[in-house]
Amino acid sequence: MSSEMTNAPIPKNHDSVDQDQFLTILSREDALARFEAALFPRATPSEPRALADALGCALAEDVVAPIDVPPFDRSNVDGFAVRSADLASASEATPVRVMLNDEVIACGTAPTRPVLSGTATSIATGGPLPRGADAIVMVEHTQPAGPRAIEIRRAASPGQFVSYAGSDIAGGETLLRAGIVIGSREIGMLAACGIAQVSVARRPRVAVISTGDELVQPGQSLRPAEIYDTNGAIVTAAVSENGGEAEFLGAIADDDEKLEAAMRAALETCDMLVLSGGTSKGAGDVSHRIIAWLGKPGIIAHGVALKPGKPLCLAVCGGKPVVILPGFPTSAMFTFHDMIVPVLRRMAGLPPRSDAKVTASVPVRIASELGRTEFVMVSLAEGDRGLIAYPSGKGSGAITSFAQADGFLRIDALADQMPAGTEAEVTLFTPHVRVPDLMIVGSHCTGLDLVIAPLARAGLLVRSIAVGSLGGLAAAKRGECDFAPIHLFDDTTESYNVPFLADGLELVPGWRRMQGIVFRAGDARFEGLTTAQDAVRAALADPSCIMVNRNQGAGTRILIGRLLGGARPEGYWNQPRSHNAVAAAVAQHRADWGMTIAPVARAAGLGFIPLAEEHYDFALVRARKLRPAVQAFLEALASEESRAALAQAGFRPA
Ligand code: AMP
Ligand code: MG
Repeated sequence: MSSEMTNAPIPKNHDSVDQDQFLTILSREDALARFEAALFPRATPSEPRALADALGCALAEDVVAPIDVPPFDRSNVDGFAVRSADLASASEATPVRVMLNDEVIACGTAPTRPVLSGTATSIATGGPLPRGADAIVMVEHTQPAGPRAIEIRRAASPGQFVSYAGSDIAGGETLLRAGIVIGSREIGMLAACGIAQVSVARRPRVAVISTGDELVQPGQSLRPAEIYDTNGAIVTAAVSENGGEAEFLGAIADDDEKLEAAMRAALETCDMLVLSGGTSKGAGDVSHRIIAWLGKPGIIAHGVALKPGKPLCLAVCGGKPVVILPGFPTSAMFTFHDMIVPVLRRMAGLPPRSDAKVTASVPVRIASELGRTEFVMVSLAEGDRGLIAYPSGKGSGAITSFAQADGFLRIDALADQMPAGTEAEVTLFTPHVRVPDLMIVGSHCTGLDLVIAPLARAGLLVRSIAVGSLGGLAAAKRGECDFAPIHLFDDTTESYNVPFLADGLELVPGWRRMQGIVFRAGDARFEGLTTAQDAVRAALADPSCIMVNRNQGAGTRILIGRLLGGARPEGYWNQPRSHNAVAAAVAQHRADWGMTIAPVARAAGLGFIPLAEEHYDFALVRARKLRPAVQAFLEALASEESRAALAQAGFRPA
């Protein structure tokens, strides 16, 4: 099949230079099949490796044991080498007396005297059995009987406590088969046979290049509009994890000439090239155009029905895979694992990846785009009826977060949703996933970290997922979390939080946070004002004054709405989801004022005019109240330590 594919005429759109559009979107399966067909079968080069460096490599050829292990008949205990026939009548009541030979067989000592009938030789665990002896008696079953003799109180069967030569590994047998992945166990077997070097599949050398004018390497400082290069680190690590030898070549600016030079240089020395970014149609996205100049057959697929990951570009140049991953780190990670890892592992002689999987129930409906295989990151939690997979980065205000995800689930290209209640298969990011002891789902607050700190020190795993107050309440009602942090103001009762509790929930008082107007210190429009009402009046009086709002459903949004009284100044539609984003917008001059909480304003170095204290409390799922982690949280919340820390950060503990 492979030769057929590689020799087949290359479709025009794959060969042409103006590949600026995704002319054909291939299904995930088609794209992978074409990619593999263009690359395999191929010889896997091998190389000799010292045992110490062979961990994780695939063995290139069968290894035959050159010696017996153990190499001689060996004692398994400390005791005496005997002739079992001498002890046939031995018992507690009728011990048998034998003379000791004038020799002690320690480990590493070759015996020199035979064990004749009526004698025994002292022998240590690991010592070689002397001529004539056929069993070992444990020292515990003997006692001294004069200077040169012992009494033995038990009979011994032939072979007792003896490991025979070759009983572990027989010389001449196939010890390990080609293709096996070398782990510590295999290294142990090879070492036991005295093998210091093995022939392994050579790790493919994989050049990794990030592209983008905006990228800065971690460790350097960011200037405005720059971001850290995340993909470089992700891809380099994922290459090593999957049998490749990664060579990270840094981030290259979106510049045809520089990029082409880097790509050509990489292909000279490496077996594979993985780029990220520059694969969509945006200005400056050039890497996929360069591929067309680098060798045949060139682009195999550009545009794959994956979500995330549609702009993935797969190519083969002069027999070497060249891949451009999408720029967004999550997309880069998913496409790499789904589409590149199978190819990389095959090139490295490794078997397909077998990721750990669990089954978990999905508590909410997940909408999905028809026609694209979709990956959804999930956090796992212990629900009332088993594991729950909570989608992160999807739906009701959830915030995408790598850190919170334990794994992902896959929604088939032919499905337009995954209904609530589905028992889904979750692929774990690492096999050692630990379900959190405490699950906090709701509104986020920087104060939360201060209360959680002692729990983490006590070894409890706490997970907090920011979905906003209303999302948290819904999760609590469904029994998916322990606590839902909320700050919801009820207009009719003029009170916080209590009116929103449902059956089965009770309110645990948290702390108060001062909400207020933020502005850049020194802004003459706001300096000297003392009330939020005055500040908003001043802002509305200046048409060039831009605000930053908050998202619908946020407690803060309600407060802003009241102050604006129906006005919709410029910036009204900028509606970020967090206190920090409001502060960032003002600090970076994208907006001139907004509303956030005092600790965030202070941390961002902004001017602050207080409006009102808001109540940040916890809706506790009563059925979970007795769980140890819930109790630990309640204790931490009441503790002097966290109250002091909260006060220090600018909150007022309730
Ligand atoms: P692109 O495909 O180059 O248009 O990139 C799409 C998005 O991903 C842009 O927001 C880029 O800034 C971002 N991006 C691209 N490469 C990286 C990278 N190496 N690390 C982090 N973000 C990236
Ligand atoms: Mg880019």
